Amino acid sequence: DKEKRAAVLNRAEEWGVKFVRLQFTDIFGVLKNVAIPVDQLPKALNNELMFDGSSIEGFVRIEESDMYLRPDPDTFVVFPWRPHEGTVARLICDVYNPDGTPFAGCPRCTLKKVMAEAAAMGFTMNAGPEAEFFLFHTDASGRPTLETHDRAGYFDLTPVDLGEDARRDMVLTLEQMGFEIEASHHEVAPGQHEIDFKYAEALTTADRIATFKFVVRTIAQRHGLHATFMPKPIYGINGSGMHVNISLSKDGQNAFYDPSDKLGLSQTAYQFIAGVMAHARALAAVTNPTVNSYKRLVPGYEAPVYIAWSPRNRSPLIRVPAKRGSSTRIEVRHPDPSCNPYLALAVLLKAGLDGIKKGLTPPPPTDKNIFAMTPAELQAEGIGVLPGSLDEALEALAADEVIKEALGPHIYERLTLAQKLECEQYRTRVHQWEIDQYLTKF
Ligand code: GLU
Ligand code: MG
Ligand code: MG
Repeated sequence: DKEKRAAVLNRAEEWGVKFVRLQFTDIFGVLKNVAIPVDQLPKALNNELMFDGSSIEGFVRIEESDMYLRPDPDTFVVFPWRPHEGTVARLICDVYNPDGTPFAGCPRCTLKKVMAEAAAMGFTMNAGPEAEFFLFHTDASGRPTLETHDRAGYFDLTPVDLGEDARRDMVLTLEQMGFEIEASHHEVAPGQHEIDFKYAEALTTADRIATFKFVVRTIAQRHGLHATFMPKPIYGINGSGMHVNISLSKDGQNAFYDPSDKLGLSQTAYQFIAGVMAHARALAAVTNPTVNSYKRLVPGYEAPVYIAWSPRNRSPLIRVPAKRGSSTRIEVRHPDPSCNPYLALAVLLKAGLDGIKKGLTPPPPTDKNIFAMTPAELQAEGIGVLPGSLDEALEALAADEVIKEALGPHIYERLTLAQKLECEQYRTRVHQWEIDQYLTKF
């Protein structure tokens, strides 16, 4: 670790870094940062930098406000879009209490805790996200609109795709920051895009998702566009998901692969699938954390609604992509990009591990188009439904001790308190739909 710290100092000097941003996320997944001049970097790397946690929403109470940031030297990267004089770099940090214990409200520490539980069972989780987002135009005063001027669709090419320049710039910037971009394309809806980067072990992936969202928004802004990861900005067209590809490895081998099985899946894979399905409704409170998230999880827009899995079909909650061998993985399709990536990966892993610990068996895979099935057929096949609203998801989470344990009481209480408040604010507002429907009718 001493070597790693020295390496960071060397690279900072080599690049002429003048400022370092110490980044961490709050429980809602919002990236926070404290900028320090480079001469404070040795102190920061020795975990001596304190900040006032009481100013961060949902973090701590006033009387317990002193927090320490512990930078992870592996996360050092220079921001390529900043000027070459006065270069800016960043480090992602864990948040610690003054007594040297991990802070219970630190999402990154929460993910590490569940990863340690997996490690004790011999497993490492790899995760690869597929984050979708919209690019909207800004108005004369720079405020985001819902306009795209773009009529392109899935995989379309220029000249129709006006966001393409912006997206190319995002890809190049991410590559300069060490991302391996596997694909980037226009998505189904006008103005909707997707950029996929290579899977990695869960913590690295969560760090990258946080970085990714902030880079995409920054570069969009430089093109006069507004990038949003809001799950369903426009009624009637596809929303934005963040499907997560997951596999476990054990002793360096893919633990989801078993060539002797008829689908090429191991017992561990089946148990993991069963665990995610068993906890799916509670998971939603974390993987789909906003009121708006549930406007996406409706039939007709390639987002999942039913708790089913399939090796072929794209409509269920879990799909098993065709690749086998070291690429064997499952694709969990309900998460959306408004989630806190650390907490989302933590609860997904926890659910899968629970399936393994309890030796759960998933129901048979569904190869039919579930959206075409009648309620009676769904019930006959024992196919459950994802929550229809954030309220429903919060109820499911309240009843799920396993997922609550993964979050820990501190995060569980503060997160759900804020979410309930949002539900209440939403419930009591009068929406445009009601005006359109009732104002002249009554
Ligand atoms: N946008 C879809 C969703 O809400 C996913 C489309 C796709 O399969 O990539 O999940
Ligand atoms: Mg997609
Ligand atoms: Mg996908």
